[in-house]
This record gives sequence, C-alpha cells and structure tokens, in this order.
Amino acid sequence: MFESVRSRITLWYSGLFGLFLILLAALTYFLYWRNSVERLDSNVLELSDTYLTTFNAELRDAKSPEAIRNAAREAIIEHRFRDVVYAVVDEQGRVVLSSLDLPVILGGSEEITPEIFTSREFRELAHAESKRGSRPFRNVPGGKNGFRGYARALLANNQGYSLIILQSLHPQHEMMEAIRHAFYWIIPIALLLASAGGYFLARKSLAPVAVMATQARGMGAGHLSQRLGVPNPRDELGTLALSFNELLDRLEKSFEQQRRFVADASHELRTPVAILQGETEVTLSRNDRTPEEYRETLTILRDESQRLTHIIEDLFTLTRADAGQYPLKLREVYLDELAADVLRRTRSLAIARGVALTSSMQPELPLQADEDLLRRMLLNLLDNAIKYTPAGGTVHVECRREENSYLLRVADSGPGIPAELQPRIFERFFRADKARSRSEGDTGGAGLGLSIAQWIAEAHHGRLELTRSDGSGTSFTAYLPASATERSSG
Ligand code: ADP
Repeated sequence: MFESVRSRITLWYSGLFGLFLILLAALTYFLYWRNSVERLDSNVLELSDTYLTTFNAELRDAKSPEAIRNAAREAIIEHRFRDVVYAVVDEQGRVVLSSLDLPVILGGSEEITPEIFTSREFRELAHAESKRGSRPFRNVPGGKNGFRGYARALLANNQGYSLIILQSLHPQHEMMEAIRHAFYWIIPIALLLASAGGYFLARKSLAPVAVMATQARGMGAGHLSQRLGVPNPRDELGTLALSFNELLDRLEKSFEQQRRFVADASHELRTPVAILQGETEVTLSRNDRTPEEYRETLTILRDESQRLTHIIEDLFTLTRADAGQYPLKLREVYLDELAADVLRRTRSLAIARGVALTSSMQPELPLQADEDLLRRMLLNLLDNAIKYTPAGGTVHVECRREENSYLLRVADSGPGIPAELQPRIFERFFRADKARSRSEGDTGGAGLGLSIAQWIAEAHHGRLELTRSDGSGTSFTAYLPASATERSSG
C-alpha cells in the first residue's frame, strides 16, 4: 500500500506533523494549567489578607477561645465565596472553626465532608508555613476535583494558629476538560488537512519523475538520440534528468563507436575474403592450369589468409582491451634487449624493401612489462616505418632512459603523414591513404596497428606520441614509466 514514494512521504510528513501537534497540545495544556493555578494561588493570597484584616478587627483585644471562634466565624461570613473553604486550626492541628461549621454559607457545587480536615495533606498544609522552605500551597484531595490549599500563620491571644484556605479546583478542571475536548477534534482535522496538503505537494513535486520514467521507458537501444525533458535544471529532479541525459550522451557515443567498429571490421574482413573467393573460383573455372598457376594462386591464398588472421587477431586484442579483459603478464623485461631482438627479426623485411635499419640503444633498461605486448608495439611501429619508407631510406630505432621513464623511438625518412590527417592516425581503421596501402600489395593495413600500439603503451601507464612527421620523415615515441605497476588492461 505504501510502495510509492508519494505515499511514504505523506505518511512520514503526517506522522511527524501529528507528533508535533500532540506535543504542542500537551505543552499548551500544561502551560495553561500552570497559569490558571498560579492565578488561583494569588487569588487565595489576597483572600487570606482580607480575611486576616477582618479577623483582627473582629478580635480586637478579646482573648477568650470563644472570641477567637467568633472572630473566625465573622471573617468567614464576611469573605464567603463560592467554592472557597476556610478553616482556623490550632497548634495541635485541631480545627477551631471551619466553613463546614456554617453550612448555610457554603454555596459551591462541592460536596465537602469533614474528613477533608483529617486528611494527611490537610495536616501537612497546617504545618506548611512552619517548615522552612516549604511552599504554603498544596493540592488537597476532596470534593469533585480536589482543592488548592493554602496555609498561613495567625497569632491570637499569644497562641499560634493557622489559617487554611481551600479553593476548589473544579472550575479549572472543567476548563481543562473543555480544552481537551477541543483538542480531540482540532488535532485530527488539522492532521487530515495537513496529510491532504502533503499528499498533494508530494504528488505535484514527484510528477516530473513519472514523466521522466515514461520517457525513459520509451527509449530503446535504437533511440539513444532521445533525451529526457529537463523541468528545471537547478532543482534536484532537473539535476537527475541532466545526469541521465549525460549518461545517454556517453552511451550513444559508445554505441556509435561500437557500431562503427563492427561496420569497419566487417568491411576490412570482406576484402580478403572476396579475394580468397575470387582467386579460388577463377583457378577452379578451368582444368588446364599449369603448376605455376596453381602455385601463384596458392601464394595469394596464403597471403590473404595471413592478412585475415592478422586482422582477426588485432580485432580480438582490441575488443578484449575494451572490455578490460586483457590481463598483462608482467615480468622483468630489458627494453634494450627486447628492442634489439625485434630489430633482428625485422631486418630481413627492411633489406627486402631496400631500407637501412639503424639503432642506438642504452644498455640495462629493466622494467616490469608484458613482453609479448611490448614486442607487438615496437613491431607495429617498425613495420609501419619500413612499410612507408621508400627504398633507399632509413629507419632508426632508439631507446634510452629519460628521468623516470624509458623512451623508445622509431624514426624513418619516409614521406611523412599529411598534417591534416595526423590527429586521426591513432583512430581505429584509419589509414592515411587507403588506396596506397592496398595497391602496394602489403600484408598489414587494416588501420589497427597504431591503435593497438597506443593501447599497449597506455596499459603500461605510458603513452605513445607522434613526435614528428613532415617531408623529412616520421617519428613515433613511446614513453614507458621505469617502474610500471600491475594492472589488467585499459
Ligand atoms: P596500418 O595497418 O594501415 O599501418 P596503422 O594504424 O598502423 O594502420 O597506421 C595508420 C595510418 O597511419 C597508416 O595507414 C598510415 O597512413 C599512417 N602511418 C603510420 N605510420 C606511418 C609512417 N611511419 N609513415 C607514414 N605514415 C604512417
């Protein structure tokens, strides 16, 4: 029932508001009661003053106990009020005279019995003033709702007496009851109104969430260009919608990248497969092929399937790297030795192309790295350098330590990469001159080599940069931290 945020907010709000109302009512009730009792007390104090004045005037110089009784009676008669009981008590706690001795003048609604004067509270009241620090006011049970009692010393005939005044608390109790009854219906009504208001407000402020949910539900993978409406960019829901839209931006970009990747990959795979198919069909279309012709066809088939394997391997590496599933097998590797080894293996290719291969290596360059990946990075760079440098040119490989990192540079004397294309060469499937790459009949050339080389450098917490490319040649430089730490891939 309270599944929705709206209902829960309303429930919380109503609960807290109800608690607040009850506390407020209790406080009001308590303060009102205290105030009315204080007023009662000051009223009783005034009564005692006027009573004593009359008592003393009536007593004058008379000394007999009878005269004291008479004076007490006269004062009671003079100051009789509804719901007020007087009593004069001697030092032994015996009642000399009380309003109950004059039943005709007790006009209140209270049923008062003589037991009230024998109650413990009454006796305590009679001694209240004599006890230091004790307030001369007490609540005394009796009648319908009890009395507010007050005691005061009274000296007559050199004898100590106490004047006790009891004022009924009945009117105050009636008033408090009326207030209680008012609270009984004011609190539920206020709570009901507040809950309705709270529900309305919660509904109104959460309405944009429902709209956003509907919009989001309508978005599929094919509709990533859609965006949520942003009701108010400065409030919380607006921020949520903006964040959601930013997420969609990233998703759309990533989806687009994936889509392009798949499209480019299929395109790159199609060409060698088409060549394989075409060559096979042409060769099989006639039965009178010479062994040389078969040999030539098989050579083409081998080269193209090598090319296919190469592309598929590259694609596999990149997708695993993207998914973060390419664990680096780190171990200590000497960069100079690794570079020298790669150089040895590519020398025949360079010779075949008429390119001179030179190097300058600083010895003893140890680092924690994945040897296979580092080899691959250098091989990709060297392969490109040899591939794009015309016969008679040179390719120079250099590695040395530079502060906290190792520098590995492959520089060639080739034609360079056109300046406007340089920012794109690390993009996947990007080839500066697609026609040229293919027409020369080389084996690489899907445009993935530099992307992979760059990923390898970054996976080792380093970077790969195109440091120079102009008419005099091209240089790629990899910077690898001298102490690469372990991480899976990037
Ligand atoms: P490819 O497989 O085509 O070599 P790469 O990602 O290795 O793909 O390189 C991307 C493009 O960058 C190449 O097609 C080429 O046009 C350009 N390129 C890379 N290295 C060099 C270089 N040393 N000299 C000239 N152009 C280069």
